[in-house]
Amino acid sequence: MVYNTSQGIVPDKLNVHLVPHTHDDVGWLKTVDQYYVGSNNSIQGACVQNVLDSLVPALLADKNRKFIYVEMAFFERWWKDQSEAVQLTVKRLVSSGQLEFINGGMCMHDEATTHYIDMIEQTTLGHHFIKREFGVTPRIGWQIDPFGHSAVQAYLLGAEIGFDSLFFGRIDYQDRTKRKYEKSLEVVWWGSKSLGSSAQIFAGAFPKDYEPPSGFYFEVNDASPIVQDDPTLFDYNVQERVEDFVAAALSQANITRTNHIMFTMGTDFKYQYAHTWFRQMDKLIHYVNIDGRVNALYSTPSIYTDAKHATEKAWPIKTEDFFPYADRAHGYWTGYFTSRPAIKRYVRMMSGYYLAARQLEFFKGRDKSGPNTDLLADALAIAQHHDAVTGTEKQHVANDYAKRLSMGYVEAEKVASSSLACLVDSTSCTRGRNARTEFQQCPLLNISYCPPSEIEFSHGGNLIVVVYNALGWKREDVIRIPVMHEDVTVRDSAGRVIESQVLPLSENYMSLRNYLVKAYRGQSPSKTPEYWLAFSASVPPLGYNSYTISRAKTEGASSARSSVHSLQRGDKSTIEVGHENLKLSFSAEERKLAFYMNRRSMVKESVQQSFSYYAGYNGSDESPQSSGAYVFRPNGTFLLKPAKKDILTVIRGPIIDEVHQKINPWIYQINRLLKGKEHVEVEFTVGPIPVGDGIGKEMATQITTNMETNKTFYTDSNGRDFIKRIRDYRTDWDLKVNEPVAGNYYPINLGIYVEDDKTELSVLVDRAVGGSSIVDGQIELMLHRRLLRDDSKGVDEALNETVCIDNKCKGLTIQGKYYYRIDPLGEGAKWRRTTGQEIYSPFLLAFTEEVEDNWMSSHVPTFSAIDSYSLPDNVAIITLQELDNRKVLVRLAHLYEMEEDNDLSVMTEVELKKLFPGKKIGKLVEMNLSANQERSEMEKKRLGWKVEEQPESKSKSTNRGGAVDPAKLVVELAPMEIRTFVLDFDQTFSAQVFDA
Ligand SMILES: [Zn+2]
Repeated sequence: MVYNTSQGIVPDKLNVHLVPHTHDDVGWLKTVDQYYVGSNNSIQGACVQNVLDSLVPALLADKNRKFIYVEMAFFERWWKDQSEAVQLTVKRLVSSGQLEFINGGMCMHDEATTHYIDMIEQTTLGHHFIKREFGVTPRIGWQIDPFGHSAVQAYLLGAEIGFDSLFFGRIDYQDRTKRKYEKSLEVVWWGSKSLGSSAQIFAGAFPKDYEPPSGFYFEVNDASPIVQDDPTLFDYNVQERVEDFVAAALSQANITRTNHIMFTMGTDFKYQYAHTWFRQMDKLIHYVNIDGRVNALYSTPSIYTDAKHATEKAWPIKTEDFFPYADRAHGYWTGYFTSRPAIKRYVRMMSGYYLAARQLEFFKGRDKSGPNTDLLADALAIAQHHDAVTGTEKQHVANDYAKRLSMGYVEAEKVASSSLACLVDSTSCTRGRNARTEFQQCPLLNISYCPPSEIEFSHGGNLIVVVYNALGWKREDVIRIPVMHEDVTVRDSAGRVIESQVLPLSENYMSLRNYLVKAYRGQSPSKTPEYWLAFSASVPPLGYNSYTISRAKTEGASSARSSVHSLQRGDKSTIEVGHENLKLSFSAEERKLAFYMNRRSMVKESVQQSFSYYAGYNGSDESPQSSGAYVFRPNGTFLLKPAKKDILTVIRGPIIDEVHQKINPWIYQINRLLKGKEHVEVEFTVGPIPVGDGIGKEMATQITTNMETNKTFYTDSNGRDFIKRIRDYRTDWDLKVNEPVAGNYYPINLGIYVEDDKTELSVLVDRAVGGSSIVDGQIELMLHRRLLRDDSKGVDEALNETVCIDNKCKGLTIQGKYYYRIDPLGEGAKWRRTTGQEIYSPFLLAFTEEVEDNWMSSHVPTFSAIDSYSLPDNVAIITLQELDNRKVLVRLAHLYEMEEDNDLSVMTEVELKKLFPGKKIGKLVEMNLSANQERSEMEKKRLGWKVEEQPESKSKSTNRGGAVDPAKLVVELAPMEIRTFVLDFDQTFSAQVFDA
């Protein structure tokens, strides 16, 4: 039997686009490699190798068959294993359009807990692979499974990539009901207030999910009835199956505009034997088209998008985002905003480190065969998957992501160390040749562990600290490192003694440090430093400065010792800490924070800090939904009152003032004020969360003021644009409130703020967390979660992280920081944006010991790659990367939104000649965001979409920087604009930018 599958679009019929696809999680219940090779099948029968192997003959069997592939982490693994003959066949399938890459990043990244820089990088990595091997550029965004959808995904990772449309599966069930009724599942999405219609994208939410209509699943063991069309055999059912198909089509047509609907024919890890699906779809297309009521065809999201576009219809406008996501009344997927806070921090740390390491790699010259940043790039890309950084994977998979990051870090650390060595030794380090100086770094400084700084200075030697600044501005920041002695001294690169301070390393920190080092490195640390040494480092943009630490030769030259005293309960006094402008006062009697005052800005505000926990709901027969890795379902809030014996320990000195509080045996907090900074740094240590009572707990902290914030707060979208949130309210529909806390939680990657008519309170975070403003005047962050039930969303494991030594396990302790500040109304943005970049890109510290006392004179003690230039205050360089072809990829980001700041929300300029002093820029090409095509090409190709009535406030014309004059090489950036360039310092530039 030959089936006629050649049908295209028929204009006057309902066209049913059958889109064959597989959804391959880049790690979830199994690791990425286990999924690829098909091992560990007792957990999940899934083998991506089978999918790709069986796909090729299935597509070759009929040229009308089509397939899309999405996750390049898998495809790349498969591709390198194929013979040249198979590769040639696959290239033909791609160029004929039978096989289409869509989305095309290494993974289908999450949209809540990812930072926009990571989203860009992981997409770029996948897109470059596709471009290099196939010469094509993906057209479609396909974020079908992430748990809610971000504005940044739509406008930045969609429109600015050059995608013509974006499809996704998960939106709030109440929103979906309304959109089905209004036929507004498909919209034109304006994700950015600043870029408006210039960054719009056609976006479609699926009617239910990314699976086929019920009854049309055709994996080998699926239960759906196959089409039995052989009349000589029993159970002939062609007419029934055609009826089922037409009924499913008409039902979907009822909620969809135009005469085009999409059936997503596939789901998780399907097509392991691709022929089973295609055989049934061949028959369905054949018989449904003979029936003639609807028109069925093999299609792809690109064909579907073009068909929608060809109708020339106008579409409703969508603004803001699709958070939070609930799939039912008590199923708010807002727990994963915080789940696995350690891996979330690890990903963020590595993200900032990767940015810095690639700058250093560029300065030295990339070495493809020696240590390079590729392994870290790959590990970071995979970690952005929607079951990785989200914390919704099984424990062994979380360990796999961490292992990959760690291995990637080790390589990147070598790159950073050797590049710094070349710079300090002033050695022309051609590729493969290294300098003399050997640097060590301290990736475990977060747990107070830094072997290179824990030295005895036994032979009169000194410790050299080289401090690298990856930002495009000069910057001052306080450095803290553990040291063995308190009689030390710090000198700058000119040999002058600079102010420094030693602080006692508290017992709490030492025991955590020793425990974790033993647990993760196998043996306890051999040394026990007793002090932190703190000093303020001043470092030029894209450059470093060096400091010398030595034993003080005379008493007077030594670091300042901190004054330490404790406030007992009942002490009547108020104690004030702080350096220049910012002061915090604590009530000794109540042993808590009471007042925040800034003498410069004249802000005075009463402030309280508290900790509480939500009891995780354990599920019941009537209401089975538990709190778990994905879902936050609280069963009561419990305020944690400081213990009766609680004392405040106050540590003061010229660089750092700290107030330590042990809230209870498993919560420790430090309020830290740094010289030169006008914000409060709060360091928390939470855990092990006790669960001996059988109740999982979700730890939150609150900062409470008397501000009248009128239910309103602002949270960032992937660390970029801020979106206004109103408690118990959604812009798009009348919200029925079922979960007054969980339903008001939003993802935070950069920060959250509230304002009233006088002031604004901003909080910045060091990793992805969930947060809200549950009460007016208050900001709440969820810091840690430990739960005892699975929430039945698939992971099938309780979120109960532990740390073990010799098989004795205890709950995971989380240490982290957040930062807050109160400003006069309208003045908070500068701090949020500048400090946000500083948190993302902390100083990179490299240590080396010198024996003689002439290090500074025999080395280059300070350096800036951009000489005396500095980027404007509103611009960050978010990518500086040498590509394999010796070209350089540069991304510049305007950090402010339209109308966000009076001074800085303006068009700004970057002078590329000054960004690369001493180099001649031969050619400059502006690219799309993922740098797989020229921007001008992308703009020519991109589809324009008509919209229904524009909301008045959104009709402002949007600005963009103009074309770059190749003689002047000045880049203009408008608010929220990111511009991507490939530079060539060689004058013999070839047109094929990514032809490696
Ligand atoms: Zn998935």
